[in-house]
Amino acid sequence: HAAHRLVVLGSGWAGFRLIQGLDTSLFEVTVVSPKNHFTFTPLLASSAVGTLEFRCVTEPVKRVPNLAFFEATCTRIDLLNRSIECASALEAFKGDSFAVNYDSLVIATGAVSNTFNIPGVKEHALFLKDVTDARKIRSKIMECFEHASQPNISESDRSKLLTLPSSEAAHWYSWAFDEKLSTYARDRFTRKGITLRLGEGVKEVHKSHFVLQSGTKVDYGMLVWSTGVGPVDLVKDLTSSALARDKTMGRIITDNHCRVLDANLKPIDRVYALGDCATIQDRQLPCTAQVANQKGAWLLKALNKSIKASPDGLSTFESVGVKPFEYNHMGSLAYIGKWRAVVDMSSPKSTSKTTESSDVIDTLKELVPKSGISAWLFWRSAYFTMSVSTKNKIMIPMYWFLTWIFGRDITRFH
Ligand SMILES: Cc1cc2nc3c(=O)[nH]c(=O)nc-3n(C[C@H](O)[C@H](O)[C@H](O)COP(=O)(O)OP(=O)(O)OC[C@H]3O[C@@H](n4cnc5c(N)ncnc54)[C@H](O)[C@@H]3O)c2cc1C
Repeated sequence: HAAHRLVVLGSGWAGFRLIQGLDTSLFEVTVVSPKNHFTFTPLLASSAVGTLEFRCVTEPVKRVPNLAFFEATCTRIDLLNRSIECASALEAFKGDSFAVNYDSLVIATGAVSNTFNIPGVKEHALFLKDVTDARKIRSKIMECFEHASQPNISESDRSKLLTLPSSEAAHWYSWAFDEKLSTYARDRFTRKGITLRLGEGVKEVHKSHFVLQSGTKVDYGMLVWSTGVGPVDLVKDLTSSALARDKTMGRIITDNHCRVLDANLKPIDRVYALGDCATIQDRQLPCTAQVANQKGAWLLKALNKSIKASPDGLSTFESVGVKPFEYNHMGSLAYIGKWRAVVDMSSPKSTSKTTESSDVIDTLKELVPKSGISAWLFWRSAYFTMSVSTKNKIMIPMYWFLTWIFGRDITRFH
């Protein structure tokens, strides 16, 4: 019999986790993604500021054996005829299109930074979603410093150039960390000379300044926009017609087996959605790598189990005893600069339906350092352990060590 054609859209946390370990003697796996690599986002900011080399935070998809990979963007899904349309993402061949047929489809296309249609954001701000963005940020920081040190620059222009605002969703800290840790992080930022303007929205962005809702004008040298996520075009199209749409964030709605629900909230056979582009009906799990990774690992096991039970057709998950997906919150970690981090191992309120943790795990969680240098060491070891390939397990500590001894890389390529 012919192998079951499984098409995976996206090579991020959800998609990349899923493709590692699929039974390729029974599945014919095709991955379609405009990026030919997976990006380890928790360490992306470290690569933007020169603590780590860019290659330390990426894993090439083609290193995963026995799959076909197309560097392309999926532009349309024909749910009726079980096929997708793709447009090449290769610079010289942008727009070249082709179709791919599937028996099962996994949508793991992530999300885009939400600009909330604020004028000027798209044109003037920098984003941080991928290595390309990290490279732009690193280059811009260096440009600001080089420009500020030139002899014809006035003191006031120098100060503007060295103002580097990051438009962050400050409420994220309040969501992920308890009040004490949020306050600790805020105090550290303030002590390091970072001005926090909390509860103030941005009205418009211009080339070298932005305006707050209150009318206050703020000059800047570089602006990084990082205020939450919204749906990619493909998901917008799907949820405006064929599929159910999550009202708050425009995500695809799935059942608790990650099966995509149609506009009448009925599961669509063998079409799944994971990661930032999807949410489970009546659950509000956050858009994090943890959730995407756990869903990817869960679907990997579920698909392998159901194809083994019925190689000709893929049995339903229920018929082979696959239990619904359950999220297990492993804690929230954030680096706050200067060898300090905050770690909160308790479950955020909105993830209350997580699996029950045992007393032993609860006791172990209590022992984890919550803030300061020991929390920073915990943060580093956690992400070091999570990094995927042996190559990066060698490169990451090596670059941490080199940066510690010789300082960050300040070369500017242009
Ligand atoms: C700088 C940064 C730091 C972060 N730090 C943390 C952290 O410390 N802890 C944490 O839990 N979470 C963190 N996150 C959030 C986390 O990275 C996301 O929640 C996670 O990446 C979601 O995984 P995903 O697979 O859904 O999407 P992504 O990882 O974004 O992957 C989406 C994939 O789909 C591809 N794609 C997009 N459109 C299409 C299309 N039309 N067709 C085909 N492919 C497409 C993309 O190229 C990409 O390969 C961070 C995010 C960022 C940006």
